[in-house]
Amino acid sequence: MIDFHCHLDLYPDPRAVLNGIDTRGTYVLAVTTTPKAWRGTTELVGDRKRVRVALGLHPEVVAQRHQEVALLCGLLPETRYVGEIGLDGSPAHRQSLELQVTVFERILSECSRVGGRVMSIHSRGAASRVLDSLERHPRAGTAILHWFSGTMRELERAISFGCWFSIGPAMLRSNRGRELASAMPLDRVLTETDAPFTRYGDDPLMPWQAFDCLAGLEGARGIDRIELGKIVEDNLRRVVQAQPG
Ligand code: MN
Repeated sequence: MIDFHCHLDLYPDPRAVLNGIDTRGTYVLAVTTTPKAWRGTTELVGDRKRVRVALGLHPEVVAQRHQEVALLCGLLPETRYVGEIGLDGSPAHRQSLELQVTVFERILSECSRVGGRVMSIHSRGAASRVLDSLERHPRAGTAILHWFSGTMRELERAISFGCWFSIGPAMLRSNRGRELASAMPLDRVLTETDAPFTRYGDDPLMPWQAFDCLAGLEGARGIDRIELGKIVEDNLRRVVQAQPG
């Protein structure tokens, strides 16, 4: 079981979630929304082998916290994983889009400089802009577009760049999400929850529920969920072992 984009530090009780992760043997990428949260989350996770903590600066907080990009760049040598980073062009954040691009590209430059990183990238309402930035920084590493919601044409462009994708139960609830996920190359797909922002009824999704989204792909792919799960596990192995630069 793999949750490659989870906001572990934002659950009401992260320790309880970590206990559940340990019990079930779930592999987790715990993304952070500010670099200030990275060290605390790293300490919380401790030496767990299956949990990695990514260093992030979420585009939704860039308007307020753009100066923290310096802190992120300073911490970059300490981790192979970067996220959540990216761009948000939805109405609530469109005003800061140019500042977001400046911050995102500074992070991509720094990732290139240190030899490449595995990156979990947000692209809501800004898929083309994200791809433009990635195109300008081809050595930044392995780009994993989380909860991709662009057009089919943007998806094709992302695929041609070598982007990976992480998909989850909330994304696969919509027809549009299923259509996009069905067109992604299976050897570049990981699973995620984006929890605790995503829910089942009143409860936040849990990292060990990420594979639930695979049921939504069985029909389109003609592959059962057990087999799809094995493919995703193989993919994780490749992402972890690859030299991202
Ligand atoms: Mn997220």
